[in-house]
Amino acid sequence: MLPFEKALETVLNSARPLGTERVSLADAVNRVLAEDVKSDMDMPPFNKSAMDGYACRRSDLSDDLEVIEIIPAGYTPAKSIGPGQCAKIMTGGVVPEGADCVVMKEYVETRRPRASGEEGRETRDENRESRIRFVGEKTKDNICRRGEDIKAGDVVLRKGELLKPQHIAVLASVGHANPIVSKAPRVGIIATGSELVDPGTVPEPCQIRNSNSSQLAAQARSMGAAVTDYGITKDTKEAIDNTFKKVAAANDVIIVSGGVSVGDFDFVPDILRRNNIDLLFEGIAVKPGKPSVFGVSEDLYCFGLPGNPMSTFVQFEILIKPFLYKLMGCERRGENVRMALDASVERKKTERQAWFPVAITAAGTVKLIEYHGSAHISSLCPADGLISMDVGVSQIEKGTPVPVRLI
Ligand code: AMP
Ligand code: MG
Repeated sequence: MLPFEKALETVLNSARPLGTERVSLADAVNRVLAEDVKSDMDMPPFNKSAMDGYACRRSDLSDDLEVIEIIPAGYTPAKSIGPGQCAKIMTGGVVPEGADCVVMKEYVETRRPRASGEEGRETRDENRESRIRFVGEKTKDNICRRGEDIKAGDVVLRKGELLKPQHIAVLASVGHANPIVSKAPRVGIIATGSELVDPGTVPEPCQIRNSNSSQLAAQARSMGAAVTDYGITKDTKEAIDNTFKKVAAANDVIIVSGGVSVGDFDFVPDILRRNNIDLLFEGIAVKPGKPSVFGVSEDLYCFGLPGNPMSTFVQFEILIKPFLYKLMGCERRGENVRMALDASVERKKTERQAWFPVAITAAGTVKLIEYHGSAHISSLCPADGLISMDVGVSQIEKGTPVPVRLI
């Protein structure tokens, strides 16, 4: 049987980029950047106060200082700071010429202007003060210097970057409001099975609800694919053929669940072949998901997955996700962290690579979750990830660091 790594190599080698498009920042998350992006300006764009306080000269810190201006954020200072002077400044305000530090207002005593006949009174914080005195022991500069984060012309993001919310923030801050990204793969999802009913329906005693379509759609959508769910198709050649033709016309990738095994009504591989899909493999030495098939035509990629929900979930994560990322122009196999096993794991049969759900413990190790096999989708709800045992491996000792595929 085909080793999993060979199956993955086959699907990755088949993936051709889909072209690019411009999108708004609202649509850019989870997409892959298709251009290098340079900053159009220094960041910060000016010497910026990091605190609410008083901009002054460090050499004057031990003196009483005259407040000559109030500088809110979004205001250009009109005056420069001379000896014995300061300006009240808000966080984000432009530090005026002549000032080399901002003292926090919490470390300042202020004096109101002297009205005639009245003694100047000490106050903590009033806008009317005309003089202040620094009463702290020492102070940082509290100035974010122009260009200290990014210089104008710096490449801030490179082609191939998978855009997460933090990247969206950087695109916004450098004025790149319509980035060029790889086109989102159009993914059509088909559930085959005469026993299936929609999630909103109460099944007859011989029926079960279709969970695969909603799950696969959620998996594909959450990584940025443009998904269409085509619902349930009965286990007849005619029904599968009809659905296939309709879905093929409107998508780049088709994921079919069910009907790929050796049962009398498992028609999917046959129908794919009849529709000129070149099947590059039928079956992988992996568990769950052994009967999985993959095929291509000139402009279409087809995955057939066995219908058990754990099979569809795991095969999406380990096989289809890296493939879709490759279509989107980025090399990514999934998020892996290495963590030690909290107990030994054993198995008897070792001819397939096997995947198990695990949870991260408070001690920073991973532990196996109770798992009854490929129909047991609820085992994934308390899981943080999946671990695998390779072909030929029957035991992993307690304490061994293993790669955990986060889900
Ligand atoms: P199959 O791969 O068609 O032989 O299906 C294997 C098992 O998965 C059977 O018990 C099916 O009832 C179940 N199954 C198939 N399709 C789905 C689905 N869309 N949602 C939930 N379970 C399914
Ligand atoms: Mg079936």
